[in-house]
Amino acid sequence: MFDSIKGRSVVVTGGSRGIGRGIARVFALAGARVLITGRDESALDATVRDLSSAGRVSAFAADVADRGKCDEMARAAVERHGGIDVLCANAGIFPSARLTEMTPEALDEVLGTNVKGTIFAVQACLPALAESGRGRVVVTSSITGPTTGYPGWSHYGASKAAQLGFIRTAALELAPKKITVNAVLPGSVMTEDLKALGQDRLDAMAASIPLSRLGSAEDIGNAALFLASDEAGYITGQTIVVDGGQVLPESPEALKEIQSDAESDPVGRL
Ligand code: NAP
Repeated sequence: MFDSIKGRSVVVTGGSRGIGRGIARVFALAGARVLITGRDESALDATVRDLSSAGRVSAFAADVADRGKCDEMARAAVERHGGIDVLCANAGIFPSARLTEMTPEALDEVLGTNVKGTIFAVQACLPALAESGRGRVVVTSSITGPTTGYPGWSHYGASKAAQLGFIRTAALELAPKKITVNAVLPGSVMTEDLKALGQDRLDAMAASIPLSRLGSAEDIGNAALFLASDEAGYITGQTIVVDGGQVLPESPEALKEIQSDAESDPVGRL
């Protein structure tokens, strides 16, 4: 199952680190030909080396906030792979700024990368996705914005919610071209940035997740792989939350209840 991706051409924006690298790894292991993008060429080269044992991965440096660069990225994928079947629009930034200190420039940067960058990447890949006849767009949104909030991330949350507004109308417009457009909403995912927070903070974060661990980049990649597969061909304009149940507890007491259940039944017989 889900082996339909073998040999297909996949573009992953923001594929040099974090979740994007996990998505690229999952698709490469499934036999796809993957083009990863990002702005930092040395990071891209290091990731191509790292993923060489997983499968066929190459890189192209491009800033998604620049429409012309997105066009170059799409051209590179078509030249190397003969087309584009899947776009994982994943590149994103999440600088923290409280409303009282948020500058117009900081707001522009977050919306420019996360919202405009997503739309530019889709626009640039559209002709090739349509040509594919089974084009797939998978956007990496977040639980932050669509479902939850976090101090310092009002602009980021707005950008992640905006992506969902985008996919619903894009899914409608692109349905006649047999292109599906869906989104994955990760919870807290273990990336290089998160590791830098230190073990105590990571343990506290894991304790607030019903499945008791942070997500891996590959957890997100697996959901993206499903949405890109032939088996998901009748799903469009939809979202999948991949968060270990992070958004479920209606109060801290709900978490305490399941923690005390786990302590009273450590081997999980119930
Ligand atoms: P990350 O580790 O910082 O990686 C971000 C990736 O995007 C890098 O490859 C980066 O490369 C690239 N990128 C950033 N700005 C770009 C631009 N203007 N043009 C092209 N590439 C750009 O971040 P992450 O945690 O993996 O996040 C990836 C996506 O997942 C984001 O959309 C984020 O909102 C979402 N997300 C993350 C989490 C989490 O817990 N980590 C949770 C929910 C959602 P360069 O810097 O070299 O350009």
